[in-house]
Amino acid sequence: MRVKRDIVEPPTEATLWGGRVHEAMEYRIKDGTALPEGMSQWEGLATKIANMAGEKFCEVEMALDENFQPAPWGKAWTRGIADLLIVNGDKAVNLDYKTGKRKLTHQLMLYAGYTFAIYPQVNTVVTGFVWMRDKKIDKETFTRDQVPIIWQTFIPKVRKLESAYERDAWPARPSGLCKGWCPVKTCEFYKDKR
Ligand code: SF4
Repeated sequence: MRVKRDIVEPPTEATLWGGRVHEAMEYRIKDGTALPEGMSQWEGLATKIANMAGEKFCEVEMALDENFQPAPWGKAWTRGIADLLIVNGDKAVNLDYKTGKRKLTHQLMLYAGYTFAIYPQVNTVVTGFVWMRDKKIDKETFTRDQVPIIWQTFIPKVRKLESAYERDAWPARPSGLCKGWCPVKTCEFYKDKR
């Protein structure tokens, strides 16, 4: 899926719903378009976000080269799309809407790294996952002096991937996904759902 790209994960109910929620929030924040039927429970959350101070940008493509400098999307060494970026002087807020289960990942740190690289005037970034089901926001605050720590966090993982590329070694790692959730049905560990 990620290396050979010969298997494409088909859309699921959950991913289609996630796409609709992202689109509704984008138009709600960007143009003030009312949330559609079935999403009005998020009006309070959307109002809170819409009232945050600063210039708002939706669905922002953020791409960097291997020197952590801004790069074209198609030539990126690392890249991601911010659902909502709010820039207010030397401060920024970078939010990601999540429709799945609440869990924390290093994505907040990664997106802070992108924001510092692309907006040199920004010295503080608050990144957050907006958990739509729970109507909660998990936030982390980063300052520009943490930029070296941010990238040092990711480099070991990148080195492992580079090593796997060089050796063309991609061993299967069985997990709960093998039980009917993984799209790689040709894998020796794949089993249909019971
Ligand atoms: S079936 Fe399991 S081991 Fe095989 S690719 Fe999928 S997740 Fe990995």
